[in-house]
Amino acid sequence: MRRIGVLTSGGDAPGMNAAIRAVVRYAIYSNIEVLGIGKGYRGLIENDMKNMDLSSVADIIHRGGTILGTDRCEEFKTEEGFGKALDNLRYREVDGIIVIGGDGSFQGARKLSRAGIPTVGIPGTIDNDLAYTEYTLGFNTALNTILDSIGKIRDTSSSHERTNIIEVMGRHCGDLALYSGLAGGAEVVMIPEAPISIDGICEIIMRGKARGKKHSIIVLAEGSGNAYDLKDEINKRIDVSVRYTVLGYIQRGGTPTAYDRLLGSRMGAKGVELLVDGIGNVVLGTKDGKVFHQDIEEALCMEKQFDYEAYELTKILSV
Ligand code: ADP
Repeated sequence: MRRIGVLTSGGDAPGMNAAIRAVVRYAIYSNIEVLGIGKGYRGLIENDMKNMDLSSVADIIHRGGTILGTDRCEEFKTEEGFGKALDNLRYREVDGIIVIGGDGSFQGARKLSRAGIPTVGIPGTIDNDLAYTEYTLGFNTALNTILDSIGKIRDTSSSHERTNIIEVMGRHCGDLALYSGLAGGAEVVMIPEAPISIDGICEIIMRGKARGKKHSIIVLAEGSGNAYDLKDEINKRIDVSVRYTVLGYIQRGGTPTAYDRLLGSRMGAKGVELLVDGIGNVVLGTKDGKVFHQDIEEALCMEKQFDYEAYELTKILSV
């Protein structure tokens, strides 16, 4: 192994920079050259690959986003685009690649693996929607950002005796809503994995009011509907004051938490170590607080398990 490449792809996530830093510095420590590939798979197609040195990753461990840039590149999915990427990788004599991204990016990584380029995937996505790993890079930071918002909204919600809907990211996977709802003491969590009727939500709000609650917090995953419609539906049924907040891209940015910096650092180093040991075509994940690797084909076939226990606990604790 003489030269490796690193890229970030798909939606950005806090902690990606910590991972890039670790890849670059651990590779240099292992006497390997590193090319930083710009804007995800687009950089492979456009031959946008630059030599990274120790100082090119200085002062980034605490920054959100990704210094390499990221993109969604449809061309990489085509035979022609993929062919160009392979030609460039061979021309630059890249012996292995570390791909930091989510589910879509891992489909691309699998394609590279199958074409004979040793590839290691680092799960970088705030959604925590990859089945094989307990946590993905960026999830912890996004969760804390949402919690901070819930806390602020809770203050004003309580003063005005309102019901507040907070819409968070998560199209297919409700982890951000579920865990922020549990940690934030929400009355209702609406997630794609466990549909709940509007009548059911209204019942919870009214039950809380009858018990003397000053406010209700509803955390809604975007995959379960939208906050504006939900407000309307609640108002059609019961006479309560409802406000909504869509958190949007606030959830994707910001300085990574200690957890995500540690995870990014460990995974970045582990990725290089695996390539040096001749192990490719794997993805990294966490289990019981430890970083592990798994075959990419196997990992991408797994189905995400819903944390039913956490969901039930939210209901029990928010009476
Ligand atoms: P994420 O990695 O955050 O899930 P996307 O689903 O948008 O984000 O995927 C990121 C990029 O990965 C895509 O723009 C494309 O370049 C690449 N990609 C996604 N699916 C495939 C696929 N089936 N084959 C090859 N490349 C893919």
